[in-house]
Amino acid sequence: MVKVTDANLFFLAVWLSRAIAETPSTGTAPPRRIAVIGAGIGGASAAHFLRQHFGKSVKIDVYESEAVGGRLATTSISGQEYEMGGTTIHPLNLHMKEFVKMLGLKERLHPDNLLAVSDGEEFVFEESNWFIVNIIKLIWRYGLDFVRMKMWVESYQHRFMKIYRYQAHGYSFTTMDKLLHGLGGDEFVQMTKHSIDEALQKIGIGHRFMDEMITPIMRLNYGQSVNINAFVGMMSLVSAESALWTVEGGNKLVCSGLLYSAKANLIKGKVTSVESKQRPLRNGEVVTFYEVNYTAGPDSGYNMYDIVIVAAPLHSGKSEIRFHDLTQPIGGQYQPMVVTLVLGRLNTSYFGHRGPFRPTAITTTAQSGSFILGASVTPPVAPDARPPSPAPARVWKVLSPEPLGEERLSRLFPTGHGAMREARWLACPRYSPADVVPPFVLRDRLYHLSAAEWAASTMEMAAIAAKNVALLAHHRWFQRLDKIDPDALPQRLKTEL
Ligand SMILES: Cc1cc2nc3c(=O)[nH]c(=O)nc-3n(C[C@H](O)[C@H](O)[C@H](O)COP(=O)(O)OP(=O)(O)OC[C@H]3O[C@@H](n4cnc5c(N)ncnc54)[C@H](O)[C@@H]3O)c2cc1C
Repeated sequence: MVKVTDANLFFLAVWLSRAIAETPSTGTAPPRRIAVIGAGIGGASAAHFLRQHFGKSVKIDVYESEAVGGRLATTSISGQEYEMGGTTIHPLNLHMKEFVKMLGLKERLHPDNLLAVSDGEEFVFEESNWFIVNIIKLIWRYGLDFVRMKMWVESYQHRFMKIYRYQAHGYSFTTMDKLLHGLGGDEFVQMTKHSIDEALQKIGIGHRFMDEMITPIMRLNYGQSVNINAFVGMMSLVSAESALWTVEGGNKLVCSGLLYSAKANLIKGKVTSVESKQRPLRNGEVVTFYEVNYTAGPDSGYNMYDIVIVAAPLHSGKSEIRFHDLTQPIGGQYQPMVVTLVLGRLNTSYFGHRGPFRPTAITTTAQSGSFILGASVTPPVAPDARPPSPAPARVWKVLSPEPLGEERLSRLFPTGHGAMREARWLACPRYSPADVVPPFVLRDRLYHLSAAEWAASTMEMAAIAAKNVALLAHHRWFQRLDKIDPDALPQRLKTEL
């Protein structure tokens, strides 16, 4: 339930004024019905931005075959809720920040974990509580690689922030390549076409830092190697920073909140196909609609729409939506990742460690041969939650490419474990620099928001893609073509950027 507060009223006023300002007087009637397929953060933010740009008269239906939130989900262990999917949000993720504020939710600082890196035989790096000690350790072992990497990440991150300016001025892009070009020219586009390994080698990052720091972060965030594209690699390194936050009560609350505030109509059903249909009107004019077919338990149904937004990854075995008349293949392979929450005492000798152990997060190198990608102590989503049992038993979130099974679980937690929960995800695209990022426009008035995920998969990327697709749908409907794929920006905007 969204509380009525002064902040909400303020954002409501901003929203209404924007919606009114955005509806142009071209004489074109607004669309009557828009479908959004998927109620994860992409679909929910699409509903929000569609309402903002198309105004209150359009009917927005959101189809969801499973739970609202998609890859944002919590689970209960010993009476407390914990994040099982997308967890941390960067302080510069401005859409997520605005959603939380608008919905009257609360940001919660995610505790900084003390990191240890295992190569299978020992911890090759162990973080300290003392900043200065960490700096000395990093320079001692890796020279200035840490500084080089940080400067590289910051220079791209800084340019990436331009997207908010473009979007605030109502610009949209038909492909990720064009969007990236707008942010940083060819250099940015090339980021999706070569690997993070190549990009970091070019700035002089050595093998040891690559193996012991960069690779474990890629494994932990995406379950993949340093062969993933440099853009998603950069995003992954950004997410290793401090001051990350989560939403109090669970990130998925943003999805349900956005659907509620957008007055979207949630249809619990699985979309099976999207088909374009032509219908003659009484006046002899012929109009084209999209017919969205869906199943809901034993029942099936269909509805007709002016515009359809696909906010679900199009890969076989998951969304399974048939698109009639689409010739190009869309989607690709997704990376499986298993999240296991375990209440227990982690066996650090499995990682070759002897003696007292302070770290609260473990990453593993590719050479470690470990069956886990990493593990960290995880906090509950509720603000006043007490620890689930006397220390040192804690709730560990273990990430692995496959389910752990009892035997592996007992190697990690030999003294036994309390409650245990498991989530099996198709977590993100299986990235390769050879990938072609699919376009946002599948056909006239049929949009694919999740295309952005082929550049990088994060909550904020989904929200950015949602805003982009809502603007694109709006401008194409009302023929505001000057606001699409801008080559030259107005001078005022150029100086602001
Ligand atoms: C383990 C894990 C950890 C992560 N950690 C982070 C993190 O710390 N920070 C971060 O920013 N990101 C993280 N991510 C990534 C982030 O969670 C995703 O990028 C984001 O949630 C994707 O949102 P989405 O709406 O695009 O897709 P989804 O959340 O997948 O939503 C798509 C929705 O569409 C529905 N759907 C699919 N097909 C159909 C159909 N045919 N009919 C109707 N409905 C359909 C699905 O059920 C689903 O609910 C993580 C992801 C995972 C799995």
